[in-house]
Amino acid sequence: MRCDDVLPLLDGYIDGELSMPESESVASHLAVCSSCSTEYAARLESVSVTRGALQRDVAPDMLRSRVRASLREAAAPRAAPVVVESSRRRSLVANRWFPISIAALFCLVVGGGWLAAHRQSSEGAIVEEALESHVRSLIGEHLVDVPSSDQHTVKPWFAGKIDFSPQVPKLDSLGFVLVGGRLDYLHGRPVAAIVYQRRRHVINLYSWPETDAGPATPEQIDRNGYHLLHWGRDNTEYWAVSDVAPADLRAFEVAFEQAR
Ligand SMILES: [Zn+2]
Repeated sequence: MRCDDVLPLLDGYIDGELSMPESESVASHLAVCSSCSTEYAARLESVSVTRGALQRDVAPDMLRSRVRASLREAAAPRAAPVVVESSRRRSLVANRWFPISIAALFCLVVGGGWLAAHRQSSEGAIVEEALESHVRSLIGEHLVDVPSSDQHTVKPWFAGKIDFSPQVPKLDSLGFVLVGGRLDYLHGRPVAAIVYQRRRHVINLYSWPETDAGPATPEQIDRNGYHLLHWGRDNTEYWAVSDVAPADLRAFEVAFEQAR
């Protein structure tokens, strides 16, 4: 691809609207052409600034959704009193087991539906929060708290700041350069953000311990030209966010899981 072919595709590339082969051709041209990559960086920045301005306006909504999420979590243990109530009723009913099993089934169905809905809405909130955090990290001066390409500097930096030790594998040889780490805040808790770079693209990898961690097979979510990859392993929740091509983000997940 030549510069004349690449320039008209840049906006589509930023918005993730190109086909996979097109997107890969643009990416490989950007990696070797400084004039196109300068233009790309300028456009990316203007997009980020616009989105940042939009996101500042929706901040109160984010806060509300966080409060709602924590309220839902506080309400979670209420399953127990329902069981107590149905067992108290038991003595009042002549044919005791049938209504109870209906009640139990009802709790199971309603409870299961509630859990599924809860999981979905809390996942939706994480998508918004992770995206907001990723974009914020790109516009400001605050991409990393600990700038280092050495995992033995980045990993220990989190000790005492967070209640777990994040995985920080070195993936330079696979094309994902470690840039550093940052303390961030997602899903109502402090999380580790490990920052990698793929060519000129930043990948934020958020992780935190979660007993009910995400799917073992990564799930891809596309939003506003960004891609999010979500998976769970060993009771840890992982969210990778970037504007790299989806294939690159998948390659990142594979490299990360193999190296950690
Ligand atoms: Zn060029």
